[in-house]
Amino acid sequence: MRTGGSDSFFIYTFGCQMNQADSGIISALLQQEGYRPAESDETAGIILLNTCAVRENAVDRIEHYLQHLQGLKKRNKDLIVGVAGCVPQFQKEEMFSISPAIDFLAGPDTYRSLPSLIEQVRSGAKQASLEFNAAETYEGIDPLREGSISAFVPVMRGCNNMCAFCVVPFTRGRERSHPFSSVIGEVRKLVASGYREITLLGQNVNSYRDAEEGRDFAALLDAVSREAPQARVRFTTSHPKDISEALVQAIAARPNICNHIHLPVQSGSSRMLALMNRGHTIEEYREKIALIRSVISGVALSTDIIAGFCGEREEDHKMTLELLADVRFDSAFMFFYSTRPGTLAARTFEDDVPEVVKKRRLQEIIDLQNSVSAELYQQAIGSSVEVLAESDSRRSSEQLMGRTPGNRVVVFDRKGFQPGDLVQVLITSATSATLVGRPEES
Ligand code: SF4
Repeated sequence: MRTGGSDSFFIYTFGCQMNQADSGIISALLQQEGYRPAESDETAGIILLNTCAVRENAVDRIEHYLQHLQGLKKRNKDLIVGVAGCVPQFQKEEMFSISPAIDFLAGPDTYRSLPSLIEQVRSGAKQASLEFNAAETYEGIDPLREGSISAFVPVMRGCNNMCAFCVVPFTRGRERSHPFSSVIGEVRKLVASGYREITLLGQNVNSYRDAEEGRDFAALLDAVSREAPQARVRFTTSHPKDISEALVQAIAARPNICNHIHLPVQSGSSRMLALMNRGHTIEEYREKIALIRSVISGVALSTDIIAGFCGEREEDHKMTLELLADVRFDSAFMFFYSTRPGTLAARTFEDDVPEVVKKRRLQEIIDLQNSVSAELYQQAIGSSVEVLAESDSRRSSEQLMGRTPGNRVVVFDRKGFQPGDLVQVLITSATSATLVGRPEES
C-alpha cells in the first residue's frame, strides 16, 4: 500500500456504458499502483471525473460537480482532482480555465499514465496527458467491476464514422479492436466468477475486426456465446450500415444471445441522414429492420432519435414520426439537437431550427414513442417471460427487478428468488416502461 498523502481514490462516472467500463479500467490501473477505492468523494484523497462530451447536459453536470469539488478542496488542501475521458480530450488545456479545482487532465488513451500524473501533481504542477494512441486497447488490464451479475466487456474503441453531430471521432480517436483471444480470455474469467450476463461494448461493434486473424463481430459474438453458454450475451452499439446477415444469423442461432438490437436511426428522413453523414438511407435502414425481423423471432428493437438537426424541415420530422409508427420500436433514446463544438455539423452547418420548434418536435416524438411502448407492453400481459433478476426493486424488497432477453424491465414478486436467478415470470400488468408480474409455479 502506498504511503504519504492520501492514497484513496473516488471515480465519478458520467455518460455511457463505455465510460462505466473505462472507470473499471482506471480503478484497476490505480489499484495496481497501490491506491485504494474510497467510500465517497468526501473521504477520498484523489477524485477523478470520467467524463462524456456527447450531450450538452453531461458537460453542464461536470461543471456543476467541479463547483462542489472546489468546496471540498477548501476543506482538504491536499485533495487532488483529475478530469479524464472525452471532455478534456476535446477541450484540451482550456479545461483548466473551467475550474481552479482541476489538477490534471487525461484523455481516453492515456489512462496508463494516471499514476505518474498524480505523482507529478503531488510535486506541485498541473498536468495534462491528452495524446491519442491508436494502438491502445488496455489489453492485459482486468477491469474492476461493480456487481457480480452483469459485466461489460469492451471489444473495440474509437470510431471511424464521421456522423456530423458526434464528438466521438474527435475524443476517442480511430477504431481499434481488441484481439479476439483477449476478449475470449476475459469472458472465460467472467464465467469462472459466475457472471450471468455479458455485454460486448464498442462505439460501433459491427465494425469489429480482429487484427490477428481478421475475424468479424459475428464470429466474435458466436464464440463468446459458446464460451459462456450459461450467461446471457448482449452487445451495443450497432451502426445500421454495418449490420450484416451473418451477424443476424448468429443472433438467431445461439439461444443465449439476447434477441435485442439497439439500432440508432437518428431521423426518418434520407435527406437528414445525408446531412448527418450517416452513410445510409432510410430505405436501407428499413431493409435492415426487415432482415432482422425475418430472421430473429420475437426480436426487440430500440433506437436513438435526434429532433431538430440542422436544416430539418417539418416534412423530415413527419418522416421520423412515420418511421416510429411503422417500425414500432420497443424503446428509444430521444433528444433535441444541440451543437457539439468541433463536430462536422458545428463547422459546416447553421444550427437553424429554433429551440421552441426542436422542443415541440421532440415532444411529439416522445409522445408517439411512449404510446407505442405502452401498447407493446400492454400486449405482453398474460405472457410468460424469462427474467434475469438484477436487484431488489426500488419500491420494495419483497419484489425483484430484472430484464427480459429483449431488455424490457420487469418487476416481480420475490417468492424466494435472488438477484442472479433466471426466473420465468407471468406478466400481470404493465406501464409504458415496466412490466409487472409474478414467478410462474414450476
Ligand atoms: S457511429 Fe456516428 S454516432 Fe456512433 S460513435 Fe461513430 S460517429 Fe458517433
